[in-house]
Amino acid sequence: MAQRAQARKPEGTEDLLGAREAAWLAMRSAAGELFGRWGFSPVETPMMEQLDVFSRGLGQTTDVVRKEMFRAITQTNLTRALEEGSEAGLKARQRLALRPEGTAGFVRAAIEHDLVPQGGAPVKAWYAGSMFRGERVQRGRLREFHQIGAEVLGSDDPVLDAELIIMLMDFYAALGLPAEALRLRLNSMGCAECRPAYRELVRGYLLDHAGELCDECVARADTNPLRAFDCKNPGCARVMEDAPKITDHLCEDCAEAYAEVKRLLDVAGVPFEEAPTLVRGLDYYTRTVFEVEARGGVGSQSAIGGGGRYDGLVELMGGRPTPGIGFAVGFERTLLAAEALGAKLTFEGEPLVYVAAAGKDGAVRKAVFDLCLALRRAGMRAEADYQGRSLKSQFKQADKLGAVLCVVVGPEELERGEATLRNMASHEQTAATLGAIPETVRTALAEL
Ligand code: AMP
Repeated sequence: MAQRAQARKPEGTEDLLGAREAAWLAMRSAAGELFGRWGFSPVETPMMEQLDVFSRGLGQTTDVVRKEMFRAITQTNLTRALEEGSEAGLKARQRLALRPEGTAGFVRAAIEHDLVPQGGAPVKAWYAGSMFRGERVQRGRLREFHQIGAEVLGSDDPVLDAELIIMLMDFYAALGLPAEALRLRLNSMGCAECRPAYRELVRGYLLDHAGELCDECVARADTNPLRAFDCKNPGCARVMEDAPKITDHLCEDCAEAYAEVKRLLDVAGVPFEEAPTLVRGLDYYTRTVFEVEARGGVGSQSAIGGGGRYDGLVELMGGRPTPGIGFAVGFERTLLAAEALGAKLTFEGEPLVYVAAAGKDGAVRKAVFDLCLALRRAGMRAEADYQGRSLKSQFKQADKLGAVLCVVVGPEELERGEATLRNMASHEQTAATLGAIPETVRTALAEL
């Protein structure tokens, strides 16, 4: 009989199994703990939004919106669009996309639920989840990847910019990536006051150097001149090194805010480099932008996180003018950087107790079942054998699973109303009363 074709995961996606899932859990729990201390609450927004949330929020001319969006559509609507030869007949709510980043969806939610009432205190939120971009797949560049992000809405105080960056660097440190192993690059992108004039300057500069630039950068002169700073073409990068720098053209307010952010980072002892050509890929950024690279990383793997201020975004998306700032950390690249540094991201769960059966008779099997149940219901992590292994192989299995204690029951122990507690590290054994196992085990775990 012909074998069925084996299904494979989609290109650029990953199954998170074993150590990788443990690393993702570890990163999320480190985020929850640290960000909680800084006053951030966890939020989750849908993995898909109406397409216009992203096209409005991120900017029509950005690569993410123009080329990389994963669109989502119901079969009924797809059939209809195919029949009509166009999706023009679909309503906005029928045109969906998987989120390529977390900020636009969060801002949509903040507006929809009025999370920042007028005159209210800033809202601080963090999230963790999958993001989707139709990128060319390579090491450290996936089509479904994971991000942990944080956002603050409701104040343009540069103290928040500095605090958010400090929290980000503390987060990396908590994951075993100290500041010395990282490069924090910082810039200001100006605001609605000063950026238009600067854009014009860059546009003029691009047109003056059209002969030395790639076709795309020449086209960018009219669509989105600042994107030319991000061009990967080495010729363009060289030309852009001498382009006018935004930091020489900031308005007074932006210059003051930028100086304050730098001053506060100094106060906190967070090292940074000024990067006047750093313009982040999405249109919504204003003022402070930053990116974190792992030193010694190569190419696309080295950027492990970044973010910036987006004071115009809420208004652009139909809300009341509300300033905001946020960052996103890429899980996969951060993990690559941590591994390169020898830092291990593992999730330390509850200690494991293994309940071993010395013998196979029904009373012993029942006792093992009862003990596992009692331990688990008392809030401990318990595991047992389900394959009828010998006691020796059960101990081996317990070691493999990382159990710290074994509770051993056999026919004679049962008769005495006892079980044996075995310390897996020292192999020391003590007798314990069956009826009091959960309490005895809890005490033993606390004393380990
Ligand atoms: P961005 O929203 O592009 O600034 O991304 C923030 C972080 O997410 C980056 O610094 C990367 O670490 C990570 N990231 C972005 N795109 C990808 C991707 N396609 N694959 C894996 N990680 C990514």
